[in-house]
Amino acid sequence: MEYDHILIRFGEITTKGRNRNLFINKLSTQIQRKLTKHQGLTFEKTRDRIYIKLNGEPHEEIVEVLKNIIGIQSFSLALKVISEMEHIKEGVLAAFKQLDHKGKSFKISARRSDKSFPLDSNQLNYELGSHILKNIQEISVDVHNPDINMRVEVRKEATYITFKDEKGLGGLPVGSSGKAMLMLSGGLDSPVAGFLAMKRGLTLEAVHFHSPPYTSERARQKVIDLAQQLTDFAGTIKLHIVPFTEIQTTIQRQIPENYTLISTRRMMLRITDEIRRRRNALAIVTGESLGQVASQTLESMHVINNVTNTPIIRPLVTIDKFHIIDMAKKINTHDISIRPFEDCCTIFTPAAPKTRPRLEKITHYESYTDFESLIEKAVNETEIITLDGSKKEEIEDLF
Ligand code: ATP
Ligand code: MG
Repeated sequence: MEYDHILIRFGEITTKGRNRNLFINKLSTQIQRKLTKHQGLTFEKTRDRIYIKLNGEPHEEIVEVLKNIIGIQSFSLALKVISEMEHIKEGVLAAFKQLDHKGKSFKISARRSDKSFPLDSNQLNYELGSHILKNIQEISVDVHNPDINMRVEVRKEATYITFKDEKGLGGLPVGSSGKAMLMLSGGLDSPVAGFLAMKRGLTLEAVHFHSPPYTSERARQKVIDLAQQLTDFAGTIKLHIVPFTEIQTTIQRQIPENYTLISTRRMMLRITDEIRRRRNALAIVTGESLGQVASQTLESMHVINNVTNTPIIRPLVTIDKFHIIDMAKKINTHDISIRPFEDCCTIFTPAAPKTRPRLEKITHYESYTDFESLIEKAVNETEIITLDGSKKEEIEDLF
């Protein structure tokens, strides 16, 4: 008898009342999509679990995939047996034999969700514990701090025996909270912000501002690669690449130097908001973090934000840089972000940007130029690239 199932727990989804089925369906679809290459697997959904039957597929690879799926709280390799005492005993013993148990302590944690089962959880713990002690040498019981905690879940349809929980990413399945636009630069912050937004169930479309020839093809490619990396969690991402050169050069000409940065940000936000409106999204996500740079003082944020009422989600607003870097490494965007190609903001950043801009000043400066039609034109000329997570795996496999 070998581990033949993986049992997946959801955590937070289970608090979601009526929407529960929607959440579970989204999660289940994502799990299946990420595991399509393992054709032998079969899936089963219940109210509070998803079960994968391995049918001989290699569990090591599948475990690695599951660790990166948003919405999974934890999961365990499991042995499925018939819910009868003889079968459960046999299963628990078989599970122990697959472990390195010599000289270790153990505990049985039984749970009886089928209340019609003749033994309650204490009796189950006792019976199964004694069965192990009788059949396995050099092992002892420790109910407080065991080396091996064997969990036994007795349900009506079957009993699942598990011994080790792997942690998932947690959060809510992507797509369960609606859609937002992620302002994606080539930096470290915005991909991490995108990841955290997805963890709260948002589907993302990304918007990037590109200013050729001031910014290079490689800077553009870097952002495509970042968006592609985020498809690990998102499935697919549409990336909108906005031609921004004309607006940036106009800003350089028309706006006093210490206000160009603020004006640039305001234009980016106006454009993103217009794309958002056309794409039926309800929020904008940025990688802003309070106090990090001149455009991220509270005064700057206030003046930039003034161009729209759309909710702006800033997952990193209070997070320290070193922690952001840590997360970037975990989601594999770090090494792409640190490639040395500059984006449009870095190149046009003035020597001394205002850190305490005033709203009446910037609106006055901007009022001399017809930015409205420049914005309209940029939006209309925006290029859309669709990045597909499943294609990525194919590409990696080729090399
Ligand atoms: P990041 O590391 O994400 O670039 P940052 O610390 O460099 O952030 P800023 O350059 O002030 O900070 O950018 C703040 C946010 O504005 C970014 O996180 C991103 O959401 C958005 N942004 C900046 N530049 C661009 C761009 N070229 N295209 C799209 N969004 C951008
Ligand atoms: Mg940046």
